[in-house]
Amino acid sequence: MSYLVLQERPKDEITDTTFKKVTEPLPETLKKGQVLVKVSYVSVDPAMRGYLADVRSYLPPIAIGAPMRAAGLGEVIKSENPDFPVGEIVRGFYGFADHFISQDGSDLEKLPFKDVEIPQYLALFGITGLTAYTGLMNLIDPKPGQTIVVSGAAGAVGSIVCQIAKLKGARVVGIAGTPEKVKWLLNDLKIDAALNYKSPDYEKEFVEATKDLIDGYFDNVGGKTLDLALKQAKVHAKFAQCGGISGYNGKVEPLYNYMNIVKFRIKLEGFIVIDFKSDFPKAIADLSTWLREGKIISRLDIIDGNVDELPRALAGLFKGANTGKRIVKL
Ligand code: NDP
Repeated sequence: MSYLVLQERPKDEITDTTFKKVTEPLPETLKKGQVLVKVSYVSVDPAMRGYLADVRSYLPPIAIGAPMRAAGLGEVIKSENPDFPVGEIVRGFYGFADHFISQDGSDLEKLPFKDVEIPQYLALFGITGLTAYTGLMNLIDPKPGQTIVVSGAAGAVGSIVCQIAKLKGARVVGIAGTPEKVKWLLNDLKIDAALNYKSPDYEKEFVEATKDLIDGYFDNVGGKTLDLALKQAKVHAKFAQCGGISGYNGKVEPLYNYMNIVKFRIKLEGFIVIDFKSDFPKAIADLSTWLREGKIISRLDIIDGNVDELPRALAGLFKGANTGKRIVKL
């Protein structure tokens, strides 16, 4: 089995020397309770950049030499545990690894529905969908006619936020980084306006698209787009601070409109998806209903490869290489 450990902390971007591969033989026999999982899908997430930095956060940093932390899906290929028979598909935190040995099955989760594509358990029914649903509903709770702006709109979380806000009757403005993503947001997700933040006229276009001012802002990127959302916020606007990917590689952009939080009494609140654990059953029920009724698109951005591919797949998130949820299929 092969897995990646952290070799050196990146100064800015993740590089070929950030991780090191370790290869070990698979066990010939398992002890009582153990389960051997062959990993088939690995989730790559922007938050992983944070795990690589030695700073205080909601999870401890990965130590140098320790295995990377990552959610995955896999198939049980050997088992000494009656709860997890061979052939069962399970979800867990397997890391950047092609196999995983569970000691007692407590870190394995069976999948509730068999009629959805398996990788959706890392996307719509994984952290992505839960983050979009719980963050939007708890911190913004969009209402018909309100203007909701979503940054990182063509990404995994953002694309689901856009669609839930539309389902709730809001006018949705999505921000993304390429003309293709803007087209996808307009034509496939059918949101009301979409802007490319790399356009030379971005600021003007943003002000025009939000001329009636913003009721809610779901922020995945921080930086310049957060600053423009502050500029265009209504009195008592609600800002859900989900992420700030524009600064994850170390370059943080200034907030010139910071004082608007005070002037317009903006409710700007950060969250971590696990804060809303008690909402997960309702979120899964609603998201699965919308998926089955064709009311929501959960686009997967799947890369085929082995564990060596994982750092490049992760680094690609910071260059906007993905549309929808990026997953590596091993
Ligand atoms: P995405 O699928 O959105 O991938 C990242 C996207 O970010 C890229 O596709 C790219 O799209 C965009 N991006 C990259 N660099 C920049 C930049 N400098 N400025 C603006 N946009 C940039 O990832 P996820 O949906 O998985 O995550 C989205 C956000 O949600 C992240 O900030 C993540 O940390 C956060 N998150 C927070 C959670 C929580 O509990 N609070 C849980 C899960 C995720 P483009 O082409 O548009 O630039």
